Amino acid sequence: MIPHPTDEQFFSGHVTSSENREWLESVELEFERAFAALDGMRLGVSVFGSARVAPEHPRYALGVEVGLRIADAGFTVITGGGPGLMQAANQGASEAGARSIGLTIELPREEEPNPFAQIVLPFEHFFVRKTVFVRYSCAFVVLPGGFGTLDELFESLTLIQTGKLHDFPVILIGTEFWSPALEWLRDSLLAAGTISPGDLDLITVTDDLDEMIAVIRSCVECHTPPPGVEH
Ligand code: AMP
Repeated sequence: MIPHPTDEQFFSGHVTSSENREWLESVELEFERAFAALDGMRLGVSVFGSARVAPEHPRYALGVEVGLRIADAGFTVITGGGPGLMQAANQGASEAGARSIGLTIELPREEEPNPFAQIVLPFEHFFVRKTVFVRYSCAFVVLPGGFGTLDELFESLTLIQTGKLHDFPVILIGTEFWSPALEWLRDSLLAAGTISPGDLDLITVTDDLDEMIAVIRSCVECHTPPPGVEH
């Protein structure tokens, strides 16, 4: 790997112009590695959710079921490769007999990828990783989570709302967890006119995994690449 400033150094602003260039090269290399690893794979569905849910928690079992159902339906399960609900979704894919992907992120405190992701692709830059989730998925499934999960959710909604991303279902699993968030979007953002009524149609909130699969399938044709073009 070429020497380059870390994101932390880059964000601090204490970098020279040649270090800026080295950092930029590390971004390009990270994209190239992802293209080399993922081009040509089966259509993916990214599953997001809390890194903090223990395997004993009922939400973990839900995450396993989500991964299993998505893999059974013929899609590649893609997660952040970490613990909690990411691990649950990778485990579900593994129980379905499918290989799944973990796009891990290098964090200041070292963490092993979860043992259920067979293809692990480590990223240094969060924003490169977020782009790769979108690029190789035809839908996002979002389990209960924290800031990281919300970041991934709103990244996709912003891309859809601004016309950069089309025919891309965003499915929130867990009505009890997500309904207050939806109420806030409706009562505060929509009421204040900072989002449009149609923006809320971009989101499906459900506990029903049959509905999840039906919504994912509804958009598959839109993502089938023309002959000779890799997804
Ligand atoms: P959070 O909801 O804050 O627990 O963050 C979970 C989301 O952020 C996941 O969907 C991941 O993509 C990302 N993330 C946060 N922590 C980790 C981690 N330790 N390993 C991998 N991804 C993580």
